[in-house]
Amino acid sequence: MALINENFLKLKAGYLFPEIGRRVGAWTQANPEQAERLIRCGIGDVTEPLPSSVRDAMHAAVDEQGNRETFHGYGPEQGYAFLRDAIVENQFAGLDISADEIFVSDGSKCDTGNILDIFGKGNKIAITDPVYPVYVDTNVMAGNTGEADENGAYDGLVYLECNAANGFVPAVPAEKVDLIYLCYPNNPTGGVATKEQLQAWVDYALANDSIILFDAAYEAFIQDESIPHSIFEIEGAKKCAIEFRSFSKNGGFTGVRCGFTVIPKELTVKTSAGEEITLHSLWSRRVSTKFNGASYPVQRGAAAVFSPEGKAQVAELIEHYMGNAALLRQTCQEIGLEVFGGENAPYVWVACPEGVDSWGMFDKMLEEAQVVITPGSGFGAAGEGYFRISAFNSRANVEEVCRRIKASL
Ligand SMILES: *Cc1c(COP(=O)(O)O)cnc(C)c1O
Repeated sequence: MALINENFLKLKAGYLFPEIGRRVGAWTQANPEQAERLIRCGIGDVTEPLPSSVRDAMHAAVDEQGNRETFHGYGPEQGYAFLRDAIVENQFAGLDISADEIFVSDGSKCDTGNILDIFGKGNKIAITDPVYPVYVDTNVMAGNTGEADENGAYDGLVYLECNAANGFVPAVPAEKVDLIYLCYPNNPTGGVATKEQLQAWVDYALANDSIILFDAAYEAFIQDESIPHSIFEIEGAKKCAIEFRSFSKNGGFTGVRCGFTVIPKELTVKTSAGEEITLHSLWSRRVSTKFNGASYPVQRGAAAVFSPEGKAQVAELIEHYMGNAALLRQTCQEIGLEVFGGENAPYVWVACPEGVDSWGMFDKMLEEAQVVITPGSGFGAAGEGYFRISAFNSRANVEEVCRRIKASL
């Protein structure tokens, strides 16, 4: 008899987005004449078209594939040199990261999950609360947790509460943990971590032999020049951190698929026998065995993000989404709600009005404004009492959302 990975049975069956879908479906059925009024500000997916520089590079790469002389078959599993070099030059200049420390992939969701392949059993895992659910569910699948309680909190995980009081950046824990997931700028809260806050985490990791898994998918949205874009801007981070990056939110690659993981060669761990091993060598081996590289046209498209036209086009996209975030922030403030995020990230995190919980707010926005938001409690217990509005939308939709929020709340 084939045995299954019964850890999957511990998963809270995709609780957030299916529940949103169910409620939206039920409302649409009950109100078919209003269905086309719905505006979705829920899921964190980009809306604006792929930059022309990226499309042109991808077109050219596809044409290369039509020619024996320029055809590309399997490429390097870790990514083509042209892209790894461009990444180092454009995103890690001056940080002493080398191209062979960059591992190109088909997106960072996969990487943040797959990274657990190189870690052993019995690690104590810390995640923030609220959190991007991928970090939690992949640890459940890997058997790193016990069962979930009625709030969806898993036994065995260390939850680091993020709230208005700590600016949505948790202090280092009193206890010792082995793996720490940090995501800044943050999804869902839109919060950012300062250099000092990240330094405290790096110091903690160095002192406790812990590894920081740093998700910088939203670094391109940072407006405040004092906020670090990379964990490797922090002294000592190369000895304790892995960074995940993505072309999804800056270049609009959510449907194209490209990301990368940075593992400095200085980052070592000890085996149970006391031998020093680089995580770089384990990940490189893992990638060579289980992955055959991101597609050639996609990597050409990703490299085009760093061309002069590409940079200008990405800057325009960021300006568009951050303009949306500013409008959403302003509107929520004008009606007296307490607003966080949206200044260095494309998410606005809003405290629900007195006496309304996250799902209550979801229903109210759906029924009274026909706007779909994301209830904060769906990202963890500490998200209760908040809701997230995504700034990924057209300007016209955001302006309409703002009008409706003002009119109905
Ligand atoms: C969108 C997002 C990513 C990017 O995922 P891809 O697989 O590269 O599209 C990574 N982390 C977080 C927290 C995100 O919200």
